[in-house]
Order: sequence, then C-alpha cells, then structure tokens
Amino acid sequence: MKTSVVSKEYQNLQKEIAGIQEKWKNRLKPEWITTKLDKASLESGIPVLALTSFNVNIPLFLQCIEEIIELLEKYNGNLSDQLSSLKSGLNDVVAEYWVEEALSLNTLYFSGFAHENHLDEWLPQFIAETAIRPYLQLTAEMVQDQVQYGKPGVGCPVCGEPVRLAQLEEDGKKILHCPRCLCHWNASRLTCSHCGNSNHEKIQFLTIDEDPASQIQVCEECKGYTKIIDTRQYITKPIASLLDLSTIHLDFIAQENGYMAIGEKKESN
Ligand SMILES: [Zn+2]
Ligand SMILES: [Zn+2]
Repeated sequence: MKTSVVSKEYQNLQKEIAGIQEKWKNRLKPEWITTKLDKASLESGIPVLALTSFNVNIPLFLQCIEEIIELLEKYNGNLSDQLSSLKSGLNDVVAEYWVEEALSLNTLYFSGFAHENHLDEWLPQFIAETAIRPYLQLTAEMVQDQVQYGKPGVGCPVCGEPVRLAQLEEDGKKILHCPRCLCHWNASRLTCSHCGNSNHEKIQFLTIDEDPASQIQVCEECKGYTKIIDTRQYITKPIASLLDLSTIHLDFIAQENGYMAIGEKKESN
C-alpha cells in the first residue's frame, strides 16, 4: 500500500499555508484576544474558544487573505478567475462576516456566499478558515499551560475540533495534538478520546506493515479511532496540521474498517 495518498504538490501547498499562518500568528497581539478561562469550564469540557472574544484587526485579516489567494493562484491556475473576482469583492464588511462565520464554522453561510458569487463551494470557507487559524493558534499558545487534559468526547479543549491525532513522545507518553489550533494535551495510553472507554478489551490497535511508526487506536465501544504516530525518531517534529495530512492514509484505513473520526455517542439510560 502506498502511504502517500496526498500529492506532493498538495503537501507543499499545505506547508506554505502553515508558514503563512505562523507568520501571521506572530504579527497578532495577545491583547486582541480575551479568554475567560476557568478551571470549572475546562473540566466541564467547554472549549476555550467559546469563552474567548477576538478583536480581529480587519485590514490585517484582509492582507492575510490576499496572501492565501496568491498562494492558491500559484498552485492552481484554474482558480485564477474565481480568485480575482473574489479579491475584488472583498471589503471590510465582508471580512467582518467572514471572521464571525469562520469562528462559528458556519458552512451554510459560506456555501451561500459561494453560490451568490459563482465560486466553487469549498473556496470561501477554506480561505476564511485558513486566515482565522492564526488567531486560534495564538489563543492555543496563550492557554497551553492550562490545558493539560481534555474531556473525552468534546474534542480539542481549545477549539473543539474532533480528536484524531496523537503522538508518542518521550517515555512513550501519548499526547493528543489538534491540527487546527495546534494545541496539545496529555491522554492516557489506553483510553478512548471519544467516549472515555478504558476497558482494554475493547481497545485495539491497527498497525500497518509499511508504516511501523504509526498505529490506529480503535474503540469497540464507540467505533471511534485515533491515529497514533511515534515521532520519537523524527529529527524535526512536524507540526500537527502537516502530520495529520501526511498520515491521511491511516484515516482511510480506519474508515474502511468501519471506524469513525467522531465516536458514536451511546445513550445511557
Ligand atoms: Zn484545537
Ligand atoms: Zn470510544
């Protein structure tokens, strides 16, 4: 089996996107982000994002969007016409909406926007999400020390993204990583991050001969899965978004075997 499911070109695009996000994150000021984080809300599994307000600098947000548009143009000339019409239609008012709707993952808004402006369905939300991530990533950095553990079933403690990626780090510790906001937190090795099941008879590991550093933890209780990558041998640790992408073959294997990125919630009576 080939382990590189995603083309080199797409991986390079994502690498450049990660670079843009890192650069823009460093340009943001922490005082633009206000979080009302407390122990009780963390313990109850409310994502930090729900308790955070952003004072997004709109001109900078638009500049970041322009860079993303240029990058997409470079990688896919076919998008040229769409991207230039999008660029000419963007202004402060639209950007304000994009911030709001990207933060609330409002797919309906963005598909409506795409439809009205004759754009490919995925394009507006992809760009808005890419441009808002520096804010999420800075938020994650600001609260990282307080986010040691997550609550099973609620996803990333900072942004709520469903859990799917873990790394084995020193001493074989299992650390969950969020590919969206890049936050990371500790998890117990034999516990399912989707339903909290820790009955080892119901936790299994799928392994791939061609890819000995990876395994897929699957849970028979909720049918959820988590990719676990042993990155201890890596010379440089990849950032979670790129590791998530380069291990997408594991998602396919898990899903072909009937497991899901979000475990099924069992109703307990
Ligand atoms: Zn996150
Ligand atoms: Zn489970």
